[in-house]
Amino acid sequence: MSDSVEPVLRVEGLKTHYDSTDGFLDRLLGRSRRVRAVDGVDFELREGETLGVVGESGCGKTTLARSVLRLIEPTAGSVYHRGEDLTTLSSAELRDRRTDLQYVFQDPLSSLNPRLTAGDVVAEPLDVHGLATGSERDERVRELLETVGLNPNHAGRYPHEFSGGQRQRLGIARALAVDPEVIVCDEPVSALDASVQAQILNLLADLQEDFGLSYVFIAHDLRVVEHVSDRVAVMYLGEFVERGPTDAVFEPPHHPYTEALLSAIPEPDPLWDGDGIRLTGTVPSPIDPPDGCRFHTRCPRLVPGADSDLPANVWRSVAALARRAANADDVTSLTATRGADDRTIRAGDSTPRTDPATRPRDPTPRPDAVIGRDPTEASRETFGGLVREEFDLPETLPDAGAEETLGEAIDALYDDRIGTAAALLESAFTSPCERHHPPEYGVGSDHGIACLRYDDGFDEEAGTFEDGSEPAGSSDSTAG
Ligand code: SF4
Repeated sequence: MSDSVEPVLRVEGLKTHYDSTDGFLDRLLGRSRRVRAVDGVDFELREGETLGVVGESGCGKTTLARSVLRLIEPTAGSVYHRGEDLTTLSSAELRDRRTDLQYVFQDPLSSLNPRLTAGDVVAEPLDVHGLATGSERDERVRELLETVGLNPNHAGRYPHEFSGGQRQRLGIARALAVDPEVIVCDEPVSALDASVQAQILNLLADLQEDFGLSYVFIAHDLRVVEHVSDRVAVMYLGEFVERGPTDAVFEPPHHPYTEALLSAIPEPDPLWDGDGIRLTGTVPSPIDPPDGCRFHTRCPRLVPGADSDLPANVWRSVAALARRAANADDVTSLTATRGADDRTIRAGDSTPRTDPATRPRDPTPRPDAVIGRDPTEASRETFGGLVREEFDLPETLPDAGAEETLGEAIDALYDDRIGTAAALLESAFTSPCERHHPPEYGVGSDHGIACLRYDDGFDEEAGTFEDGSEPAGSSDSTAG
């Protein structure tokens, strides 16, 4: 890798939002649904290096890859290639620039024209850019097929006559045809068997060495990214949450999301039963991403409010109840009875919900009189127990004030006043992570993590922010 000052590619504040307004009614009512697929991404790609971009499916990786090459028009931001902003180029200028910047697609079959022979597929960019004709063209095609490990005598075959791995080699040969500097590889091995994956990854590594290529390598598999990348960026809901040299990203300190992804990598041990961090909570929609840190609805390390005396894990459980109550349509989704065979409501618990005044507060269940699993038929005590069980909460919180608020919220839920319960909980259990959008904090050489835990005001020992201190993050969720 060279230490050139100007990177081959520099991406600044890239945003790609698109309209997903669904059908006539939305349009008639003027309902706009803007998907914020890529929402303020910055990165540099240095000469001869591979930048791996990793994240769950739907996080915006592919939109980012296509926006960088303007296969999708970005909404805002700049993409500099050798210092020139691609977003300002005309179509003709951009077409010329495509000889430097190429793309390898995830699904080789659907990206190859089935009516063209392998030779014509590979020669297509030569024809488009007028780079070779006649025997020179034929010779270049043979050379490219050989370079990617295909038999040049198979140039007359059609894409469907090749295996998946061979088709991906064809896609790579087509990208190489114009002697590019940068190739954006969009999940190039995720559709392939493990053994074929290794062959394609080795091929890409050899080509990088032979031709000095720079790669942006998109993948959802961290092991693949670790194998091929010099630096890694972790993407969540349209934003980078961590980036740095591969070794640094794979070692602590981590962003909590990276930590969860890493913990889910299976060990080679056949007896490994998966002790990964399980992310709970709904994956938010990029149409309406959460305020503050976008990961806060699923974060296992959510920062508790500074005024709480609860243990962090208990605080997070109450906060999870608050979040779910805020989005719940009915109280059954807040209790432990959904589909659980061992949670049945018994006849002794039952009092019609239409008459709260006569509902028993401390009934004795009769084990022989099972009537079903509907928590709305339960006594207040059983109902409260089911809520606590669902959120792994103790019978009594070890902080009297917090217990009082929780009790009042459960009373409200019991009386079917979900909005009241949600408001009560929200007022008492709000995390700084919900209010502040974290900037990227430097945690090492060229290593940044967008998490408030790395803010100077965060008290590691207390597990929250020092009294009266506020994180540096913007309170505007669109920042970054
Ligand atoms: S800012 Fe808060 S919610 Fe976001 S990753 Fe850090 S601890 Fe988790």
